[in-house]
Amino acid sequence: MRLTCWKTPLLPETCLCAALNVLKSALLFALQNMRRFLHCGDVRKTFQYRLYPTKKQHALLNAQLAEACRLYNAAVQERRDAWKMRKTSLTYYQQANQLRHIRAAGDLTLANYTSCQDVLRRVDNAYHAFFRRVKAGQKPGYPRFKSVTRFHSYTFPKYGNGCKLKPEDKQLYIQGVGELKVKLHREVTGCIKTVTLKKSCGKWDVCFSVEAETPTPIPATGAVTGIDVGLASFAVLSDGTTIKNPRYYEAAQAKLRRVQRTVCRRKKASNRRRKAVRQLRRVHQHIKNQRSDFHHQVARQLINQYDVIAYENLTITGLARSMLAKPIADVGWGRFLTILSNKAAEAGREIVKVTPHGTSQRCICGQAVPKTLRNRWHHCPTCLLSVSRDHAAALEILRLGLSRREAT
Ligand SMILES: [Zn+2]
Repeated sequence: MRLTCWKTPLLPETCLCAALNVLKSALLFALQNMRRFLHCGDVRKTFQYRLYPTKKQHALLNAQLAEACRLYNAAVQERRDAWKMRKTSLTYYQQANQLRHIRAAGDLTLANYTSCQDVLRRVDNAYHAFFRRVKAGQKPGYPRFKSVTRFHSYTFPKYGNGCKLKPEDKQLYIQGVGELKVKLHREVTGCIKTVTLKKSCGKWDVCFSVEAETPTPIPATGAVTGIDVGLASFAVLSDGTTIKNPRYYEAAQAKLRRVQRTVCRRKKASNRRRKAVRQLRRVHQHIKNQRSDFHHQVARQLINQYDVIAYENLTITGLARSMLAKPIADVGWGRFLTILSNKAAEAGREIVKVTPHGTSQRCICGQAVPKTLRNRWHHCPTCLLSVSRDHAAALEILRLGLSRREAT
């Protein structure tokens, strides 16, 4: 398949056509942005379920994913060529306008039209993100071609168009595949907007992005807390409670080492190596699942227990490049704090972010108590507060959080 709109010579009529197209693109872009603006208050939530396709359906799903990947690569190729040969940047609409012809020529067998558009939108987003980074002076990565092993999902951007959930039969209809068995372990609440089919470790999942219903606040408890996240323990609350750091990645090191060694030993592009890679992926997936489960459980407990939760607004990207990169990635604060804020928004709880500067070097009475990293105990000479370093930090975070809350 070749996307080649930029190659056609521009004749007078086509010039007019092109001008009209540009106008149309601009209008559509404005409309889209307006829509985004109008919907900015919406809370989106994703429900994920495991799919159980038959052997035949499995092959069809794989074929659709491969087609989506091929379209993605063709779109990237077209943009690269257009820039190399003509120094023109292509827009999403210029690429999407060719879809009809390509499909009519029978060169694209991805069944649903809107999911083809979604693939092109992904390419467009990748380029926008690239140029945004270039402008911001960050380190940009040019959108790359993806192999099928790096292309994990495709989306139906309009629910009901090529996909339909039948909860009573526990079936999901997918255009070009048929009715798939789905394990509905919980009810989908809210209005389904998009459906994404995702492949991980050879298994298929379906993700429903729903517009969440209005949040239902849970009864107030009158309790407030500050949390100090760390590596020695996952978190310390301002009442002194310590949550242990599970260190799932570290615990799996021995197993990972073994499996990675197997991958290395096997011949490249062999079936046995492919099998070993699959095994390695499974181990990583398991670690990820364990961590995610832990985060959800801790966040749920905190939300149920406290009305107001204060935490440090850490810059994790900087920390994750330090010597402690591995344990920091293992503990996953960023993901945890996102989960915590999402759960808080849904339960009507309040989250206060405080600046992390000096929380471990100050007492709640205002006295500076300088400590090195090795110094694990906080002893204040003014108010005689004597607690562990992390507990003192949690108390200080709570104090800052509450004062910030009063100020606003
Ligand atoms: Zn003090």
